[in-house]
Amino acid sequence: MSRCSHPIRLRGWQERIDADTGELLSRVITAREPGGVLLVACGDRRAVSCPSCAEIYRHDAFQLVAAGVRGGKGVPDAVGEHPAVMVTLTSPSFGAVHTIRDRDGGCSCGGRHLPDDEALGAPVDPDRYRYLEQATWNHLVPVLWKRTVQEIRRALARELGVASAVCEGVRVPATGRRPLPRGHSARRAGRRWLSAAEPLQRRGARTHRQMLSRVGGGMGERLSHLLGQAA
Ligand SMILES: [Zn+2]
Ligand SMILES: [Zn+2]
Repeated sequence: MSRCSHPIRLRGWQERIDADTGELLSRVITAREPGGVLLVACGDRRAVSCPSCAEIYRHDAFQLVAAGVRGGKGVPDAVGEHPAVMVTLTSPSFGAVHTIRDRDGGCSCGGRHLPDDEALGAPVDPDRYRYLEQATWNHLVPVLWKRTVQEIRRALARELGVASAVCEGVRVPATGRRPLPRGHSARRAGRRWLSAAEPLQRRGARTHRQMLSRVGGGMGERLSHLLGQAA
């Protein structure tokens, strides 16, 4: 594993104290460290900022999600039998961007791009790209995410006939070539043993808009309204 590209340089002192006994567990005084500073890994999740920390995060995130879905790392193996869903939520399009299409490697600009081409993700036609709508969308994503996940929990609980509180899960944020947020959510019916329930394995990708029109309780319309105002 290579080293952190931008370690944080800490000065001062740090003590770890047992909250129950008041016992001093360890003490670091940076003045005694080489260079007078304590170097701490930046912990950035973006490979473009710090390849080393992003790689550690990627492995940690995988182990965390895998343990939650199949058990292990202190989670009982029995959770592997619990119904689970994996949902990928992607942003809508605000105009064509330079990309490498999966189906033929081409781009809507008519050309072909190499994977390190800086044009990737940039609008094909900047004059017609709906920047304002995209900015509004990005601003509202946290609210959308919260409401959508609530609805996924409720839908999963309804399907299984359990309380929504037992449907636990994680969110894995991701970004693609477009500068738009995207996320994956793994939800698992937890805590209660659900061997009697029909295994529910659904994989699929839906856009936020489609997802919201299915489960959004009017959020889709509200967003469309806001986007309409922005445009
Ligand atoms: Zn780092
Ligand atoms: Zn292109």
